[in-house]
Amino acid sequence: MTKAFEHDAIRAQFPTLSQQIDGQTLCYLDTAATSQKPQSVINAVNQYYQLNNANVHRAAHQLSARATRDYEAVRSQVQGFINSNRVDEIIFTHGTTESINMVAHGLTAQFDKDDIILVDTAAHHANIVPWQQLAKQTGAIIKPIPLNDDLTIDVDAYEQLLSLAPKLVALTHVTNALGTVNPIIELTQKAKQAGAITLVDGAQAIAHFAIDVQQIGCDFYVFSGHKMYGPTGVGILYGRYQILDTLTPMLTGGEMIKTVSFNGTEFGSLPNKLEAGTPAISAVIGLGAAISFMSDLPSDLVEQHEQTLLHYLQQQLDQLGDISLYGAGPNNVGVVAFNLAGEHHQDVGILLDQQGIAVRCGHHCAMPLMQHLNLKGCCRASIGLYNNKQDIDLFIDALRKVKELLL
Ligand code: PLP
Repeated sequence: MTKAFEHDAIRAQFPTLSQQIDGQTLCYLDTAATSQKPQSVINAVNQYYQLNNANVHRAAHQLSARATRDYEAVRSQVQGFINSNRVDEIIFTHGTTESINMVAHGLTAQFDKDDIILVDTAAHHANIVPWQQLAKQTGAIIKPIPLNDDLTIDVDAYEQLLSLAPKLVALTHVTNALGTVNPIIELTQKAKQAGAITLVDGAQAIAHFAIDVQQIGCDFYVFSGHKMYGPTGVGILYGRYQILDTLTPMLTGGEMIKTVSFNGTEFGSLPNKLEAGTPAISAVIGLGAAISFMSDLPSDLVEQHEQTLLHYLQQQLDQLGDISLYGAGPNNVGVVAFNLAGEHHQDVGILLDQQGIAVRCGHHCAMPLMQHLNLKGCCRASIGLYNNKQDIDLFIDALRKVKELLL
C-alpha cells in the first residue's frame, strides 16, 4: 500500500520552521548546509539524555546496556538504509569531513610517489584537501577531473585520465554548490575497471534519493547525519569490508583495541577498530530517528515533491530576469546556484535575510569550482522535503525587492 504524503502534516513536525524572523515567517532555503530536524529526532536525543545516558560497550549496568543496544541498532539501520553487505562495514564518524580524512589517512601507507589521485573539480573542499595532504606525505599526484559545459563530470576526459591507471578516484554524487548529479554507477564502474579505489561523497545525495552502495559498487561512500534531518556530530563512513579493514586507524586509544600492553597493542576488529574513544552516542541515536522518519515517508512522492519544487524555483529565478544561474538543469537535485547581475552575493544574502529568507552566499567550500566559473562566489538556495511552494514564492518576492533596490 502506498504511504500517504501529507505535506502540511510533515512540515508541522519541524518546530524551527514555525518561527518568525524579525516579524516575518522564516523561509528556510539552506538545507544543503544543514537540514532542520523533525520532532522525533529531537525527542530521541532528549530521551537518551533523560533515560539512557551512559557510555556504550562493556559496562555491566543496565543503562549502558540500553545505550549500547540503541547505538548498535542504528548501525544496523544504516546498513539497511544504504544496503551495505555487512553491518561492520558501517563506521560512525563525526561527519563527511572526518569520514574522508579517515580514508585518506588510512590509505596513506598504501600510496607511493607518483601514484595518481583523480578528484572531481566540483568537489567540496572536504573531498579535496585530505587528498592534498596525502599527496604531500607520499608524493602522489592529484589530477582534477574536467567538467562539461553543464558542469557535470566530462566522462570522455575522465576516461582519458583513467587510462593513466590512477590509484584512487574521489567523486561527488551530488555537488553541494550546484546540485548537479553525476552518473555515479557508470563513473564507479569505469574507475574499477581501471583498477582504482573509489570514494563517493554522498553528503548531498543521501537526503534526496535512495542510496544502494552495492549497486553503486564503490569502495567508500560517506555522508553526514545533519544533512538528512539528523543531528550534527555524526557521520557515516561506509567501506567495502576487504578494503575498509586495510585502513590504518586515524585515531587510536580506548574502544578500538583488543589488547594493550607495554610490549605492544593489538587493534580490535571492524567496526570498533575505526571508532576510538567515546562516540557521539546521542547524535547516533538521533540519526537512527532520522532514518526512521525518512523511511516512514513514501520516497517516490517525496522525490517528486522536491523535483517539482526545484523546477519551479529554477523557472521562477529564470523568469525574474538579471539572474545568472550556474549549472542549473532538470536533473539537478536540491540546489540552485545564482547571482543577481553585477551584485555581490553577500549583499544579496543580507538583503534576503532582512526579509526572513535564509540562503547561503559564498564559495560553498568549492573554490576550485568557483575558479572554473571565474566567480568569487554565488548565492545558493537549497530545499528539503519540508519546503513548499509558498517558500519559493516568498523567496522570489523578496529577491524581486532586492533587485529593485540594487539595480
Ligand atoms: N561534502 C559535501 C558535498 C558537502 O556538501 C559537505 C557539507 O556541506 C561536506 C562534504 C562536509 O560535510 P560536513 O561538514 O558535515 O563534514
